[in-house]
Amino acid sequence: MHLTSLTIRGFKSFASATTFTFDRGMSAIVGPNGSGKSNVVDALSWVLGEQGTKNLRGGSMQDVIFAGAGQRSALGRAKVSVTFDNSDGELDAPYSEVEISRTMFRTGGSEYEINGEPARLADIQELLSGAGLGKNLHVLVGQGQLDQLLYASAEQRRVLLEEAAGINRHRRRQDKTARKLESMRENLTRVEDLVKELE
Ligand code: ATP
Repeated sequence: MHLTSLTIRGFKSFASATTFTFDRGMSAIVGPNGSGKSNVVDALSWVLGEQGTKNLRGGSMQDVIFAGAGQRSALGRAKVSVTFDNSDGELDAPYSEVEISRTMFRTGGSEYEINGEPARLADIQELLSGAGLGKNLHVLVGQGQLDQLLYASAEQRRVLLEEAAGINRHRRRQDKTARKLESMRENLTRVEDLVKELE
């Protein structure tokens, strides 16, 4: 799986639709201070479901919508779409290409889509968690987070690495299976008791 494109429209400083395409390997975004480099990273974490306004460097979620600049007036909505090449099937979806979109209106509310079909935030999170792009998006390390990572305890670092490696999804599945097994055991005990009573 790899990130192939990111399209931003009406998000932060990107009033007009702007598409970034990424090849395999390393990509770099360069530009003068304040030109919107971090906004590109914010757009990526936002479309992947980021809910924390602090992580998006804003006061309220509506702050992500283009607020007007120069001659251009404020817009009523922000939309970001991200496309992944999924030919290796790492994302648990029956598509060789997966597009995730998020739209937010100034009047409130977010809409998500997976390949053009309406989806819930939980669907996006479940889809991404297996590929190491879990809920807390530890794979995106912002400028201010580097210190946090360097000074994290061994235990905190282990949690971050497990999230990035997609281990948490397996842990959740393991817990679910253990609960099912426990309830099966209880049922079996009840059946054995009934059999004893009937004998
Ligand atoms: P640096 O190199 O200094 O870290 P940068 O290239 O990462 O800068 P960003 O922080 O991504 O720049 O972008 C900052 C710009 O985005 C500012 O000019 C700010 O006014 C603009 N901006 C942020 N939110 C909005 C918004 N909602 N509407 C319009 N412009 C916005």
